[in-house]
Amino acid sequence: MTDKIVKFIEMAVPTWPCNFRCQYCYVGQHYSDIERGKVQKFEYTPEQIANALSRERLGGTAMMNFCANGETLILPINLEYIKAILAQGHFVMVVTNMTQTKALKELCELPAEWRERLFLKCSFHWMELKRLDMLDLFVENVQMCWDAGISQTIEITPHDELIPEIPEIKEFSLKHFGALPHITIARDENNELKKLTKLSDSEYEKIWGQFDSALFSYKLRTWGKKVKNYCYVGEWGYSINIANGKIYKCSSCGFVGNLVKNTYKSLPKKPACTKCPFRHCYNSHGWLGFGGMVPELAKETYAQMRDRVRNDGTHWVLPRMLKVFETRVSDNHKEHSVIKKFYKRLMS
Ligand code: SF4
Repeated sequence: MTDKIVKFIEMAVPTWPCNFRCQYCYVGQHYSDIERGKVQKFEYTPEQIANALSRERLGGTAMMNFCANGETLILPINLEYIKAILAQGHFVMVVTNMTQTKALKELCELPAEWRERLFLKCSFHWMELKRLDMLDLFVENVQMCWDAGISQTIEITPHDELIPEIPEIKEFSLKHFGALPHITIARDENNELKKLTKLSDSEYEKIWGQFDSALFSYKLRTWGKKVKNYCYVGEWGYSINIANGKIYKCSSCGFVGNLVKNTYKSLPKKPACTKCPFRHCYNSHGWLGFGGMVPELAKETYAQMRDRVRNDGTHWVLPRMLKVFETRVSDNHKEHSVIKKFYKRLMS
């Protein structure tokens, strides 16, 4: 098996339930509490989805990023899709709030070689963890997964109400995780995807910049900037709804086909070209950072954006995964010629 990653695939998990109610949650910005109980009908079994994403069909090993609308690990069925994909030999990332102990224990009991290919993006929802008295549980679960050889990153979603808590968060993180958390950017879904803050850009950068996070600086640099370059998403990466098998070029846009119904030998190559539909690439760290979908916009490596080194020299991201994070999907593809780009643009 090779660790050369040829595709970055966003595995969209259409389940809304969550045990938290964060102030900045994208789901909370759109849905009522009743609607948050929603789960889309799963039309295909985990095996059907995983078989349709075999390494033969994808042309090699992929990095699959599982993220639900609510908490990814709250529904047992989601865990079955994750396991089925790991069984295919792919690398898997899971976005989770680290409170679903039963599911996390199951992950820790997977074969050791599967755990090496697993990465947890631990959303550190400080205010909710405090309100629900779950900070200790978060720490215990993170440590349990590190002990089991699963790579992790700790990430904070910044919001204005959290600013007075920063000194306590820093002290807590250094004590329990050996380093400061990485910082992302929250978007205001009701205000043209602007940053979710009342601060000016310079205040926002100064306050959250104190965490010295490469994730934050990359997101900040790409935030609000329309991508007009040639983008290879739709060829080097896709977004797939795991419940209905629908394939999109990029985050739920640019419909490509159905993973299970269509009997493709390999997935269709329909790059987004210069037709990025969004105001900016808001999952820029994944698509552009790890994927390198727009090669000239890839700067920091995913390793820089996800790993931290503790005082004792140990890493949050473990050796095999770290090596993969030091590369990009684009390293394993040839760029199109000028003529091909011209032709693809005309056809898209
Ligand atoms: S630039 Fe980002 S958001 Fe736009 S099409 Fe490419 S991957 Fe998608």
